[in-house]
Amino acid sequence: MRRQCRRQSGRRSGLEPLLSFVTPLLRWFLRNARDLPWRRTHDAYAIWISEIMLQQTQVKTVIPYWDRWMRKLPTIAALAAAAPQAVLKLWEGLGYYSRARNLHKAAQLIMEKHGGKFPTHFDDVLALPGIGRYTAGAICSIAFNQPTAILDGNVIRVLARLFGAKGNPREKSTNTRLWALAQELVMLAARRNTPKDWACSRLNQALMEIGATVCTPTGPKCGLCPVRRRCVAHATGRTESLPELPRRVPSTARRFAAFVVSGRNRFLLRQRPDGVVNSGFWEFPNVELHHDTASPEEIAFHALKVKPAGIQPLCTIKHTITRYRITVDAYRVEVKGGSLIANSAGRWLSLGEIEQLPFTSAHRKILQTIPGVSKRGFEGRR
Ligand code: SF4
Repeated sequence: MRRQCRRQSGRRSGLEPLLSFVTPLLRWFLRNARDLPWRRTHDAYAIWISEIMLQQTQVKTVIPYWDRWMRKLPTIAALAAAAPQAVLKLWEGLGYYSRARNLHKAAQLIMEKHGGKFPTHFDDVLALPGIGRYTAGAICSIAFNQPTAILDGNVIRVLARLFGAKGNPREKSTNTRLWALAQELVMLAARRNTPKDWACSRLNQALMEIGATVCTPTGPKCGLCPVRRRCVAHATGRTESLPELPRRVPSTARRFAAFVVSGRNRFLLRQRPDGVVNSGFWEFPNVELHHDTASPEEIAFHALKVKPAGIQPLCTIKHTITRYRITVDAYRVEVKGGSLIANSAGRWLSLGEIEQLPFTSAHRKILQTIPGVSKRGFEGRR
């Protein structure tokens, strides 16, 4: 028992220097936190949805999606009972669609295993589909005020600069050190916890907020930073060189041709099958182009298995997904005997039916270039 007490007090004194970071961070957050809709609640479900949406996505993009999601699916039970297509439709345009599928699966699991109540134990939260160590830590600290650490790209940047952490933060030794620092800071914040003051929640959100608004990847606003006097990177002029991230893998260009085939006020569309990227989403028939020698007519024949009676360029859509720079050349295609291609290449759907379906961003953009469709797109329904 004595040995344990000594160890704890030694650990306590080892943490003391870090205390000087905690108080200014807690105070700063009270005065400077942005008023975000999910910060007005302690509802774990609402916080979970916000954390998943915010992965790889900016706050200003997430707000309308989160608002709409919480209106349509306000509870875990509502999400668990929703049709898969309805869940994807609410996520349409946010990208990284496995996030939506995992939310759906996790809600069903919470109904089965936890009686519909969001679990409060870290290990149970971590066991849910689509939830990693960072997200479990964020939910448990923000929704339940537990001393659980968080470490994402923003927090890595703040801690690496504050403590002058050298080495690639994705490599094990540096990463372990940064997790340990994040854990120690939130443990120290826990000493300030009161029923009214959720210091663990506030500390973690302060780290997130500073990373997002002050300690930005380039040109950090150190003059506004509450811990600048203790910041190693600021003192040594290394704000631009920390964290020591590896060079980005150069992006790869990919080109696709997509075909907008219509007839009798219907469009030919297909659904992406299970097990591929963006499975469950709808799109115009398309093929990836590996060489430029074939004519659009030949490519259309390859994609539709029917010789086009006419083909005209419609638009070109460019976008980036992870490390791919994607260009989609869309064509308007006329075919004779359109019903012949219905079974092999997709389904003929009216605009009313199309409105109910989830589309990937590129194909939603193609759809919106067709006269009479643009105003019926996702933007108009928010
Ligand atoms: Fe980041 Fe500058 Fe603050 Fe250091 S002082 S944590 S570099 S914003």
